Amino acid sequence: MTTALIKNLSRHVDEEVTVQGWLYNLRSSGKIMFLIVRDGSGLMQGVLVKKEVGEELFETAGKLTQESSLKLTGLVRQEPRSVGGFEMTVTGLEIVGIAEEYPITHKEHGVEFLAERRHLWIRTPKQTAILRIRSEIEQAFRDFFYERDFVLADAPVITPAACEGTTNLFELDYHGEKAFLSQSGQLYNEATAMALGRIYCFGPTFRAEKSKTRRHLMEFWMIEAEMAYFDVDDNMRLQEDMVHYVIQRVLTRCAQDLKTLERDVDRLQRISLPFPRISYTEAVEILKKAGEEFVWGDDFGAPHETIISSQFDAPVFVHRYPTEIKAFYMKPDPNDPKVVLGADLLAPEGYGEIIGGGQRIDDLKLLEQRIAEHNLPQEAFEWYLDLRRYGTVPHSGFGLGIERTVAWLCGLEHIRETIPFPRMLHKMYP
Ligand code: ATP
Ligand code: MN
Repeated sequence: MTTALIKNLSRHVDEEVTVQGWLYNLRSSGKIMFLIVRDGSGLMQGVLVKKEVGEELFETAGKLTQESSLKLTGLVRQEPRSVGGFEMTVTGLEIVGIAEEYPITHKEHGVEFLAERRHLWIRTPKQTAILRIRSEIEQAFRDFFYERDFVLADAPVITPAACEGTTNLFELDYHGEKAFLSQSGQLYNEATAMALGRIYCFGPTFRAEKSKTRRHLMEFWMIEAEMAYFDVDDNMRLQEDMVHYVIQRVLTRCAQDLKTLERDVDRLQRISLPFPRISYTEAVEILKKAGEEFVWGDDFGAPHETIISSQFDAPVFVHRYPTEIKAFYMKPDPNDPKVVLGADLLAPEGYGEIIGGGQRIDDLKLLEQRIAEHNLPQEAFEWYLDLRRYGTVPHSGFGLGIERTVAWLCGLEHIRETIPFPRMLHKMYP
């Protein structure tokens, strides 16, 4: 007997197949029974007619509890009115495990209750839809870079020093030496970019900042790319192509899951290239016009980002931030050194910053000076300075947070549902 995934049932119409999964719901009229089964790829309705399967099998099926594991065998039929569009006329049922009384019922539950049971919550239709979309997004990023001859160069997770100070880092004991969990792979990416030209890394990132917002996690996944011979404009062009590519992939490959999430896909379909670009100074003007008391030189908070991005249908680049508020390695604009050649990408619909990026300082003397101004220990950065000593080139890169991207594309209120097991402030069970 062929086993099939529910998502592939369209390939098996009028064939007999076996579906392996778990019981999501059961309704019975006494003569006919409807079993909604999930297998991780989708939901399917199985129909058991007592007259046809016999008394014994019908009674066995009646004992199934929610989340019992089972295998259903039967004929696949097209049925537009049924969940997923296909239905199975069941002829065989094998019970693999009867589930105890399941804590998550089909009633509404509070988020606290669900978060405590995250290991079970992820089985529900909305959560599986989100996690499948996350998987598609990650695959789309990988394909995008692969198609453009980027090399995947993984950055270390355990690091001796920090990019930008150590206050927001998780510290650990490295055989008696102090070490930290990585908050960015960027400095290492600059080294691999000088070796390989165009690279990206994709890994977990750790920030110990005590933020309790709907867009911050303690552990999140970041795609970070670094490109030799790219300036600030090349950098933005690559990013918009990438984000647009990922949106198209999700729209074409995740239509069913977006529907489950009731995502307004028009908002995503409308996004076209190129994305708008405004300078930090122009963004400040937008804030002032909106009645905000904002001083040039301050960093944007989430409400500011929402006001700025609400002016646009597509994601918007904000470039040339004040040098003062950006990292030491950001290259000052030669035409106006008070600002840097960096750009953040703000997602529409209030989702805020999803990318931070920019052109890096390629001049040795200037970089040494900036390290000193930021009170960073130069010894720790000697290897990084070597990249300017030996064959320095203009180069740029960026980091994109996967969870914020998933939250935006799925239209979610909170980032905690975008990752199987979120790590949040004071919360890491299960
Ligand atoms: P924010 O100011 O919004 O806290 P950031 O400027 O500190 O973010 P970057 O250091 O620029 O963030 O990191 C690059 C990207 O990583 C961000 O644009 C965002 O998508 C993501 N990111 C940063 N911090 C977090 C976090 N705590 N949780 C989830 N994603 C994050
Ligand atoms: Mn940033």
